[in-house]
Amino acid sequence: MAPGESPKDKGGQPGFVSAALSGLCPRCGAKTLFAEPAGLADQCANCGLDILALERGGRFVGVVTMLLALVLIIAALAVDEWLRPPLWTTFLFWGPVTVGSVVFGLRFYKTMWVYHQYEERAQ
Ligand SMILES: [Zn+2]
Repeated sequence: MAPGESPKDKGGQPGFVSAALSGLCPRCGAKTLFAEPAGLADQCANCGLDILALERGGRFVGVVTMLLALVLIIAALAVDEWLRPPLWTTFLFWGPVTVGSVVFGLRFYKTMWVYHQYEERAQ
């Protein structure tokens, strides 16, 4: 990767964080990148960019999910040890936190991957 290379530096392209949160297409900036909360669309509904082809090779998604889950489990155990909350609050709190973190982790990871692939092909 060239120094200073990031989506933010390119004129007209959205910032990476907003791109990941809103699921913005790397080519046209429409909110078409995700068909599901953590699932990429096959192609951009606005400009027809082949997102599926860009996603190919993103083999580390499973590793990212496992690492996230591991971090969350350790965090959950640490909080449990520290506060000793009743069991139901543990489930009430960590259920949504785990699901939310995994979904957002995957969104960031997939957005990063697709943007990276898109920039590589654009050169
Ligand atoms: Zn597009």
